[in-house]
Amino acid sequence: MSALKVVEIKNYINGRFVPSEKHFESLNPATTEVCALIPDSDENEIDEAVDAAKKAFAKWSQTAVKERSYILFKIADLIEAKANELALLESMEQGKPLWLAETVDIPRAVLNFRHFATTVQSDSELAVVSSETEIVNYTLHEPIGVAGIITPWNLPLYLLTFKLAPALAYGNTVVAKPSELTSVTAFKLCEIMEEAGMPSGVVNIVFGYGNKAGKALVKHDDVKLISFTGSTATGTHIMQESARMAKKLSLEMGGKNAAIVFKDVNLQSTIPNLIRSCFLNQGEVCLSSSKIYVEKEIYDDFVELFVTETKKLKVGNPLSSDTFIGALISKDHLEKVKSYVKIAESENAEIKCGGIDCDFQLDDHVKNGFFFAPTVITNINESSRCMKEEIFGPVVCITHFESEEDVIKRANDVKYGLSATVWTQNVNKLLKVAHQLKVGTVWCNCWLVRNLHMPFGGMKMSGIGREGTQDSREFYTEKKTICIKLSN
Ligand code: NAD
Repeated sequence: MSALKVVEIKNYINGRFVPSEKHFESLNPATTEVCALIPDSDENEIDEAVDAAKKAFAKWSQTAVKERSYILFKIADLIEAKANELALLESMEQGKPLWLAETVDIPRAVLNFRHFATTVQSDSELAVVSSETEIVNYTLHEPIGVAGIITPWNLPLYLLTFKLAPALAYGNTVVAKPSELTSVTAFKLCEIMEEAGMPSGVVNIVFGYGNKAGKALVKHDDVKLISFTGSTATGTHIMQESARMAKKLSLEMGGKNAAIVFKDVNLQSTIPNLIRSCFLNQGEVCLSSSKIYVEKEIYDDFVELFVTETKKLKVGNPLSSDTFIGALISKDHLEKVKSYVKIAESENAEIKCGGIDCDFQLDDHVKNGFFFAPTVITNINESSRCMKEEIFGPVVCITHFESEEDVIKRANDVKYGLSATVWTQNVNKLLKVAHQLKVGTVWCNCWLVRNLHMPFGGMKMSGIGREGTQDSREFYTEKKTICIKLSN
């Protein structure tokens, strides 16, 4: 598929690239070839990294905001200058189409740095003056210390930088642990940090497994806050581990996102948007639409057109510009996705397209890759595990509804609460439904339109806390109140 060399990843600790004695392999999921060697780090490397970050905090936390911001802008510029290389590496290790990495993942990493480099410069504090009592109160937002950042494999650089940029902008130092399945672009980011003049020890990236390096990071007494994105199982585990030390936590976890389609929509324009929301990035987006509720009157027409259009999506070589669905991240994950389709089959649901036996053409050099055709399931019971659990792959269930009350109840009847979409021309209906959905974000007649000022996060088992301009500031700082009596 590509003549890319195997990348030998090194931990980045205290401004040095530290070779590791133990490695494991990371595969290109499209070709199944080894594409990187990842250090199998443990608590020793984490201890070293936290130590470096702790020492660097004294200076970085006192560095002028303008200076910190200047370095973040420089990092953004360097990511932009190396965008082609980074996109290729992201696609190679994650399996996503190259065009997607080029148009979404890498530009968003650039934006994350520019956004927080800008907003940190215009922050203000609250001051309350009481002339009667001659008391002045004001707040200070202070950096906290060493931030632990733990990220997943689906949007590797995009999500890492959404945490890294505000943590640094607000004066914290960082030890990050990217997913063991996608380390390469985080490693390239270390080189960029160096080039941008980031002082040693301010950012440390330790690579390895979650239950070893990740666990050691969470358990470390000197890591005062953990920002985590990943599964609900890991997130809740981190919460338990952190309780003993009362760490500050931001947890962005799993989702089971409903799309609600009313009968007044224009199917021709709505269906392409919905298809994108189900299958972009192979459906490996925490915000993917995973179950679609369609108003009964248009259900048959909807399914027919949705299936016709889904069948047109090209599955295969992530480097081809006409590929919409690349490779799933791993064999294990492919098997997990298949297991849900098997559940649907065993319950006599209808597989309208895709599915386990689906035959699709693959170029020779990707014929062993972890591909799965976009799959549409209908005739499925509301209580099926396919309607309740996160599948995190190119699989969607479509069902129908008759009333607003009914669809709101069914959409909310899951343990998750990350996002939902609502599709109708009727603004009153739109607002009424959106306000009753128990999720962190409701997109109305659109999907995945992100404004970084807006709070992002989940309700219920989808998360704790929010990220975005103000929310990130609140998370990455401690707020202090100063109270002054003007006369004695
Ligand atoms: P995961 O929970 O398996 O792993 C996430 C990260 O946690 C990885 O870096 C992993 O190494 C680390 N980890 C694993 N066990 C750990 C432990 N015991 N202690 C510390 N760290 C540990 O998740 P994943 O499979 O990488 O990602 C997919 C999940 O992420 C899905 O559930 C998806 O919905 C979720 N996700 C959520 C959002 C969001 O914003 N809410 C965004 C993207 C992905």
